[in-house]
Amino acid sequence: MKLIFLGPPGAGKGTQAKRIEQVHNLVQLSTGDMLRAAIASGSEVGKQAKKVMDGGNLVSDEIVVGIVSERLKDKDLANGFILDGFPRTVGQAKALDKILADSGDALDAVIQINVDDEFLVERITGRYTCANCGKGYHDTFERPKEEGVCDRCGSTAFTRRADDNPETVRERLNAYHAETAPLLPYYAEKGILKTIDGMVEIEQVTGQIDEVLNGIK
Ligand code: ADP
Ligand code: AMP
Repeated sequence: MKLIFLGPPGAGKGTQAKRIEQVHNLVQLSTGDMLRAAIASGSEVGKQAKKVMDGGNLVSDEIVVGIVSERLKDKDLANGFILDGFPRTVGQAKALDKILADSGDALDAVIQINVDDEFLVERITGRYTCANCGKGYHDTFERPKEEGVCDRCGSTAFTRRADDNPETVRERLNAYHAETAPLLPYYAEKGILKTIDGMVEIEQVTGQIDEVLNGIK
């Protein structure tokens, strides 16, 4: 299956992609993670991306499409993937359609995780991640069973993203509404947009996504 998880920053795309990929044998492809890896590597692309990301704006279509088109060639994606955070502009969506069509493929579904803006600032500013295994947590909504210890790997080191602060979040929400929301009618017209309620508990959101996926198998 070839899927997109679409929604504003903090909607739960990454949280759900990590849960769904294990059960359905898919691979999560997060362009945010790829760009953060480019920054960590000190590459020229990383340097350019960092300035844009720190301001909460979108990295150019050229850079992001370049990174994704390379990654889509990898053999580990044979059973399918979940795009998380890509596409974010109509230009990126058109580029993705072309990349897939060139190899005789197409998307199976675009799952919109619908969350109102008023919930997103709290979700994003409370987000943190295990520094060792990458498991995601939240100060209020997803705490480790033992305070300060990762449930999955036992590490006691955690990180927070530099752009998860209230000022940058507002910029990121503006970018979402101006540039990414137009993807909703774009995919609705193609008949592949499925909208689910992202304002319920994490487990219940996963249940709704499972239902959609079972319907398209
Ligand atoms: P995105 O990948 O869409 O930016 P995340 O999956 O990182 O968003 O979720 C943002 C934060 O909100 C995380 O800390 C996560 O634990 C929390 N979260 C995700 N889904 C829910 C939910 N349904 N209810 C409450 N908190 C959630
Ligand atoms: P995310 O991890 O999805 O929240 O993305 C973090 C930041 O990376 C965004 O605020 C953008 O600056 C950048 N980014 C991630 N994916 C894309 C994309 N598809 N297009 C443009 N910029 C992106």
